[in-house]
Amino acid sequence: MYTLNDKIKNLVPYEPISGTYEVRLDANECPDNLPEFVREEIKAEIDRLAFNRYPDPMATAVVEAFASYYGIDPALVTAGNGSDELIFLIEAAFLEKGDKMLVVSPDFSMYNFYSSICEVECETFIKNDDLDIDADALIEKVNGDGINLVMFSNPCNPTGRGITAEEARRLVTSVDALVILDEAYMDFWDQSLLDEVEKYSNLIIFRTASKAVGSAALRLGFAVANETISRAIKAVKSPYNVNSFSQAAGAVIYKNKEYLQNRQKTIVKNRETLYNGLVSLGKSQPDFTPIESVANFVFVRTSRAGEIFAYLKSKSIVVRLMGSYLRITAGTEQEVERVLYSIKEYFEVTA
Ligand code: PMP
Repeated sequence: MYTLNDKIKNLVPYEPISGTYEVRLDANECPDNLPEFVREEIKAEIDRLAFNRYPDPMATAVVEAFASYYGIDPALVTAGNGSDELIFLIEAAFLEKGDKMLVVSPDFSMYNFYSSICEVECETFIKNDDLDIDADALIEKVNGDGINLVMFSNPCNPTGRGITAEEARRLVTSVDALVILDEAYMDFWDQSLLDEVEKYSNLIIFRTASKAVGSAALRLGFAVANETISRAIKAVKSPYNVNSFSQAAGAVIYKNKEYLQNRQKTIVKNRETLYNGLVSLGKSQPDFTPIESVANFVFVRTSRAGEIFAYLKSKSIVVRLMGSYLRITAGTEQEVERVLYSIKEYFEVTA
């Protein structure tokens, strides 16, 4: 007789919003598919794959393309099956029984989720009301509570707020702990520590192809750290964690730097349109506060979040509902226009 253990018996499989919607602004994805010319290049690479062979365990071609895109040393980069895999792997391997990790709140929920699977004690640092991280208070908490690993997203999902490179640097150099900066959304901002990671004995940065690089389907994430840490990550990961399709496609995609950077600029422009539009709508609504963002989405505080979410859904627009907040991804110009129009309409019909 086998029964599930306590830590997993009540878990349910992750279910993204199901159904078909005309406008998907719920998952912070890139709004458009890769262009035809990039897809053609990928097809040619796929044609050359040796399907009978295991993938390259070090994902050399995609790691080199990634490193060249960001101007860093490929020896410092490890590819993962999405950053999700890397989050789990690092918590499982870099922490021992009895160690403590720290997450902040609100933040990406998977950090905390995996800590319970890894049976690691996880403390939570609650952000200010303005949703910013007070770096000094965080440093004090990490050192005061004997934290071994602190992990947070910068820019933050879901708030869209970020700490500057200077603050992040101060944190890394002031704590006696391993710091994981998840820079999943840093392509939309300019406060990365990516090109100085080698200087620190205690820093791992995550990047992903899922957001600004528009390739969530591939499941490609990257951990960047000094050589000692990188060697350890490579040693503990499962050997063939990134499949040959994703390696081949990723290597092509990261070589299209100009295209990717132009598209990122468009997304930032659309986020500004979204934010400004939401601010205008909020002027006549006492209880509707968009938070200024440095990522590709806008977080909005409103006690009517549930109702607005349902109204948008009835208009075939899906956003992310998080308690008394909505998180709205910056889609295409037309999608941004449409979500703004529908929220305005919601305010009119419920006035
Ligand atoms: N980190 C953050 C902050 C995210 O928001 C997400 C995706 N929502 C991830 C990591 C996961 O990225 P990936 O697709 O590379 O697993």
